[in-house]
Amino acid sequence: MPLLKRSLQTVKDIALIGKRVVVRADLNVTLGKGLAIVDDTRIRQTLPTINYILDQGGSVILLSHLGDPSGKYIPALSLKTVSDYLSTLLSRPVPLVTWENKSDLHEAEPGQVFLLENLRFHPGEEANDSDFARDLAALGDIYVNDAFGVSHRKHASVVGIAKYLPVIAGLLLEREVSVLSGLLDRPERPFLVIVGGAKVSTKIGLLSRLAALADIIAIGGGMANTFLAAQGNAIGKSFYEAGYTGEAKHLLRHAEHHRVKILLPVDLVVGNPDNSTLTKVVRANVIPENLAALDIGPETEAIFGAAVAHSKTIVWNGPLGVIEKPEYARGTEFIYYALTQNTRAMTVVGGGDTLSAITKEEHLDRIDHLSTGGGAMLTFLEKGSLPALEVIQKK
Ligand code: ADP
Ligand code: MG
Repeated sequence: MPLLKRSLQTVKDIALIGKRVVVRADLNVTLGKGLAIVDDTRIRQTLPTINYILDQGGSVILLSHLGDPSGKYIPALSLKTVSDYLSTLLSRPVPLVTWENKSDLHEAEPGQVFLLENLRFHPGEEANDSDFARDLAALGDIYVNDAFGVSHRKHASVVGIAKYLPVIAGLLLEREVSVLSGLLDRPERPFLVIVGGAKVSTKIGLLSRLAALADIIAIGGGMANTFLAAQGNAIGKSFYEAGYTGEAKHLLRHAEHHRVKILLPVDLVVGNPDNSTLTKVVRANVIPENLAALDIGPETEAIFGAAVAHSKTIVWNGPLGVIEKPEYARGTEFIYYALTQNTRAMTVVGGGDTLSAITKEEHLDRIDHLSTGGGAMLTFLEKGSLPALEVIQKK
């Protein structure tokens, strides 16, 4: 499967001069107060593909979704802020084109860039409707997928469109696939995987796959609570998934069988999210009845940090605490800085919330690869491919 990276056709393999190139990008950024862009990483990571097409004499018609409008028009989820921002980054106008005005795109001239309004305003996108996919295909001459973050989704703009136009890979997608294939193909050991975030349920498939691939799996965040509960600990008011304690137990046995070391928190920062005066550190097996585990504790930081220091390959997805509150973001920051100190290791960090927790920190350039995909990165590591990659032209 790691051969995949050599087999995908990319923008570099075909002539783009005079072509109207439809680019599925992942411009799904978080919008904060006054619809300001909170983190522009995803937009910036798309620039190499856009600039390459423009340099080659093509025009660019960008497609993206934003948030989850579920097939309805929601003004706050318009891509207008993103088109304005892109216009600044690219030093040229980037008109936002609505579905009703999409015939304007037939006039696209070399050097021009357009952004089509939020794909998910249309039910056809997530339903992978063939008429919708055909309408998208009719917007240009060539289709480029550069949206790694949605490449695990069977949506019209990701998979369905391939029935109507040849699909090739953009530069970001190619880089993501090449880095992640490398991880599956003889990673340098020890190989450490750090997983956090809220839910075991969304990551259980990956966790069992990792038990055969990694040497150490460090588990933090809300997900760790499900494991602590599975081991028979009282977990107070902590978030956990009661329906997954069986899976968690199974995984612990599976890991033991493969001689994979599982690191769980030994201490935790507990508190009441509505009353920060109750915040304190406790041992992981004595979470008070009226409090919730909201971050890893200092000894756990040291244990996870030591694993980071002696590993040669490190993959991290999922915050280790409730990062939305600064009091509970410390464990995540600690692990981030531990990663930046291990410059010998190949380090890969992915996931929307994970990236937004770290991209304003120092030394971001010391992380080898910031994956724009959370779910997509995990699915790729689990399955070795993605639905979007299956429909891209092979060399
Ligand atoms: P990513 O987007 O990077 O893949 P996830 O979406 O899986 O990450 O997880 C992020 C969420 O996990 C955050 O909203 C965070 O508040 C939550 N989380 C982390 N630790 C805990 C915890 N101890 N209890 C509840 N939620 C947690
Ligand atoms: Mg998330």
